[in-house]
This record gives sequence, C-alpha cells and structure tokens, in this order.
Amino acid sequence: MRNIVLLPGDGLGPEVVGEAAKVIGWFNDNFDTKIKPEQGDIGGGSYDKHGTPLSDETLDKCRKADAILLGAVGGPKWDKVDYKLRPEAGLLKLRKELDLFANLRPAKVFDALIDASTLKPEVVKGLDILIVRELTGGVYFGEPRGIETLPDGTRKGVNTQVYTTAEIIRVARVAFELARKRNKKVTSCEKANVMESGKLWREEVTALHDKEYKDVELSHMYADNCAMQLLRNPSQFDVIVTDNLFGDILSDEASMLTGSLGMLPSASLGAEKADGKRAAVYEPIHGSAPDIAGKNIANPLATILSVAMMLRYSFNLFKEADLLEAAVESVLAKGYRTADIMPTDGGKGCQKLSTSSMGETLVKELDALKPKMAARA
Ligand code: NAD
Repeated sequence: MRNIVLLPGDGLGPEVVGEAAKVIGWFNDNFDTKIKPEQGDIGGGSYDKHGTPLSDETLDKCRKADAILLGAVGGPKWDKVDYKLRPEAGLLKLRKELDLFANLRPAKVFDALIDASTLKPEVVKGLDILIVRELTGGVYFGEPRGIETLPDGTRKGVNTQVYTTAEIIRVARVAFELARKRNKKVTSCEKANVMESGKLWREEVTALHDKEYKDVELSHMYADNCAMQLLRNPSQFDVIVTDNLFGDILSDEASMLTGSLGMLPSASLGAEKADGKRAAVYEPIHGSAPDIAGKNIANPLATILSVAMMLRYSFNLFKEADLLEAAVESVLAKGYRTADIMPTDGGKGCQKLSTSSMGETLVKELDALKPKMAARA
C-alpha cells in the first residue's frame, strides 16, 4: 500500500485537490497503484480549527506518509494573523520539518498551449526542462546575516552564501538520479568564476559525476549565461541543478516560458531514508487564488500534473505517469480549456470547462487512452 496525505489547504486548494483525488481514484481502479489517501489540515483552515497552521497531528501523518499532495495555503482572511501563525508558516514548517532540500520545478510546453508563451513557438516547441533547486541552504540561510550601523552612521547589509560538500552532493545526487529517469543530461549552474562557493559547487558536482554517474552527460554553466540560454535556446536543457538563490530566479524564468500558472506542478524532496523512500511534497506552483476560489473555475491541471510527478518520482510508476501526462496533452489538443488558458481571442474550436468538468473530462480521456497505451506496451 502507498500511503499519501492530501492537504487541500485554503482558497482553490480543496477544488483542485478534489479533482486530483478523482484521478488517483481512477488509477487505483484501473492499475495496481494501491494509493491510499488520507486527509489533513494545513494553512488558514487549520489555524481556524486548531489554532495553528500545521498541527502536530498533521505533521505526524505527513512524516509517516510515502508522499504528500498539497493544494495551496493563504488568503486575505488571515492577513492580520501573527506571522508565526500565518497559513504560509504552516507550509514553511512542513518543508523544514521534513528537510525538503531539493525543489523540482518542471517547465513543459504543451503543443496546444504554445501560443501562451511570450517566446516564439519555434523556440519553445517541445520544451521539457526540470530545474532542481537547492532549497534549504545558501545565501537565504547563511550566517552572518543582518543589517548593522557603521561608526559613520551609514548602514551595512550582510548575507552569506555558504555551501558544504554534503549539501552540494545530496542535491546533485537528486539531479543525476532524475536525469536517469529522463534524457540523461544535467547542467549544473553557479558562478564559479567569481564565487568560492561556486567553485566548490562545480568541483563537488564533477567529482560525484565522475564517481557514480558517468552514464549521465554533465555540463557546467555560469548562472547568468543560463538565464540567457533559457530565453535563447531553452530546448538544449534537460535537468538543471543549481543553488537556492540562482534556482529561485531561474525556475521562475523557466516557468514563464510556458506562459500559464495553472499548468505548473512542483515537488520538494527530502533525503533518502534507509528503506529507500524519501519525504516528498507535490504541489502546484500557484497560490490559493482567493479571487476565483469557490467558483469552480480554477484550473486543476497543475495539481493533476503534480500527481504525475508523484507517480514518477515517489512511486516509480512511469507508465502511469506517462499516461496521465498524455491524457492532459490530449484534453488540451481537443480544445478543452479552463478560463485561465482560454485564448484571448475566444479560441476557435476551444471549449471552456469548469474545474470539475475538466477533472471529469480528463478521467474520460484516461479511459480512452488506457487501451491504446496497453496496446503499445
Ligand atoms: P496566486 O497564484 O494565488 O494567484 C495569482 C493569479 O493567478 C490570480 O489571478 C489567480 O486567480 C490566478 N491563478 C492561480 N492559480 C490558478 C489556477 N489554478 N487556475 C486559474 N487561475 C489561477 O498568487 P497570489 O494572488 O499572489 O496569492 C494568493 C494567496 O496565495 C496569498 O495568500 C499567497 O500568500 C498564497 N500563496 C500560496 C502559495 C502556496 O501555497 N504554495 C504560493 C503562492 C502564493
């Protein structure tokens, strides 16, 4: 049995996670996936119910689970709540407690949505990148940090970029392992030309590659060049691994190549445990969208694509993950759209669907594609 925790959270969270749960149910009915979901509270809803955005009970469930699927947290209702108890604090605590050090952000362009990108179709066609960002170290956490007043009355702001061998190796290992499940190419990005931490990063990644991952093609790129290459020729990349700061920027840049917030999944992974399993939280990159929450118009596909990531990365269910992604592709190719991805000109041949109809349409598409997939296998 594969035990997962569903944390729908706030705003549109329950709506999109509800559709993802339908998809999980379909896989349990049609394949040997044996995924057993259990519900938990997080965010503002949890604060209202338990006085905390992440209760010990939910955290305990998450620790024991094989994977977690999260919707989104936050909303104006909790704007005046103390920072430590805000909905977002629940999510940060979950990431910290599970030591989720590797953040995976895929940027995939679906043919049917190619016009949603601000780049020319020929530049982004077929784009399928995975950015692995180190999430718990680097300049956002390094000491010393702070703002101090100097003797002459002016002020100095300090942050410290710091990485250890262990921190670099564990995130690089994740990138190499993931590349083995994709196109076997890793680009490692830093600023080894001007930063010692970047030099160390490059040396450690190279050493790990030479020792254990010679079957994966490794190249190095300065982070500023990577920012340019993502716009010039993004298809050259398969997996990009980088630190917390550069990853923050490069992953946002890469997601915008696809042009649609409602389509982008993510995963955050922890260290591999003795039994070979690792903590993992899968979630759409968008927030709780209070402006459209409760209206049954949100796009559930980012959350559903997060389920595909869970199938692939937590459960090694590659065939099932491929099938789910193919069903999303096919539903889009047939012109089905939620409001956020409707073409601005009204979209000839496109049909606007609600959140729940998108979920139902996708399940029907899975029904239709399953025999074709089986025939190909
Ligand atoms: P947002 O991502 O919630 O919304 C930005 C815009 O995108 C809105 O217009 C929204 O309607 C639209 N949008 C987002 N997801 C969509 C979907 N699935 N389908 C269709 N349209 C969608 O960002 P925001 O407005 O800056 O933040 C709203 C709240 O979400 C805040 O409280 C913020 O703190 C929180 N937030 C949470 C997370 C998270 O849970 N991981 C991430 C970002 C923001």
